[in-house]
Amino acid sequence: MTRPLVPALAADSRLVLDEDELRQWGIRFGQAAVAPLVVTLSGDLGAGKTTLAQAICAGYGVSDAVTSPTYALVQEYLSPRSVVYHIDLYRLESEKQLTNIGWDEIVSGNGLVIIEWPERAGERLPPHVPIALEYEPGDPTRRILLAG
Ligand code: ADP
Ligand code: MG
Repeated sequence: MTRPLVPALAADSRLVLDEDELRQWGIRFGQAAVAPLVVTLSGDLGAGKTTLAQAICAGYGVSDAVTSPTYALVQEYLSPRSVVYHIDLYRLESEKQLTNIGWDEIVSGNGLVIIEWPERAGERLPPHVPIALEYEPGDPTRRILLAG
């Protein structure tokens, strides 16, 4: 039997979550994730992408503190289950920079790869599980999570 690409918890498609609920969802997603897997997190600044990435990493077994990789573009972590790459392409300047950070090896490797601002990778984005976060109009404490 082949394993499904998308962990079962991603099938909930549209959820309205406060920050704690978003973290809980991320932890469960991380627990269900099986590498190799590329997960993309889309959404505006402040939508909660890094918050969700931290929760996914925690659920996946990363014990180090996960920080925003905005300046380095990529941060590497270790879980007992596999290597984890947290990538933030917000400040990506050129396609060459993708090559320089080892993009091709990272996304074709055996790890869990979590990518913020994935649209900036253009056609170099590999097959992935897409997750989107949106602001809930009129409620600054909640976000809409779209997945699966
Ligand atoms: P991004 O990486 O998308 O720019 P961050 O995760 O860095 O976003 O920041 C999200 C901010 O929004 C944090 O300050 C967090 O406390 C706040 N926030 C408020 N409500 C929520 C929610 N329901 N889910 C996630 N973050 C929330
Ligand atoms: Mg971020």
